[in-house]
Amino acid sequence: MQIRDKEFKVFIPFKDIEKRVKELAFTINEDYDQLKPLFLAILNGSFMFASDLIREIHTPCEISFIKLSSYETFSSTGNVNELIGLKEDIKGRHLIILEDIVDTGNTISHIQPLLEQEEIASLSVATLLFKPSAIKKEVDIKYIGFSIPETFVVGYGLDYDGLGRNLKDLYQLIEKEKDF
Ligand code: IMP
Repeated sequence: MQIRDKEFKVFIPFKDIEKRVKELAFTINEDYDQLKPLFLAILNGSFMFASDLIREIHTPCEISFIKLSSYETFSSTGNVNELIGLKEDIKGRHLIILEDIVDTGNTISHIQPLLEQEEIASLSVATLLFKPSAIKKEVDIKYIGFSIPETFVVGYGLDYDGLGRNLKDLYQLIEKEKDF
């Protein structure tokens, strides 16, 4: 399968993703029974994972879609991170962050403190994919769909240059020697 200049092959077929997502949901249902968790799905990549997972959640819950924006202020040299889209009052809530993939861990390690500065009841992370060998930040991930090698993946919400999010299966980049 070709996307722009790159070739991809099927890596995890949808039926395997579906099975694993149901298993994760089963555990979350048990862990959060009657706690009315608030799922926070990180856009854009997690929308498909979030929609499949939440349909398997049978305890009362809420979901919100958020984005992390990073901008530079005039007065400081460092980047300021801001969460966009969070309208709910998260005080006292049990939060579950939904990520498509945790790669370096940068995104999660920026989001976590922003949420934890509110008086939340608890915070956990659920990610469909995790690349353990790419991690650069210490992150605590409670629910992992698949631990995968350091490879570039596309499909099931994840993109390559904006394309491929619509693919039902998860694809892996075919590394060619000229890519190195
Ligand atoms: P992190 O901040 O390095 O953990 O990366 C998180 C974000 O990088 C994910 O939410 C994805 O949007 C993107 N990303 C990381 N690895 C891949 C990949 O293999 N394919 C597509 N997007 C990726």
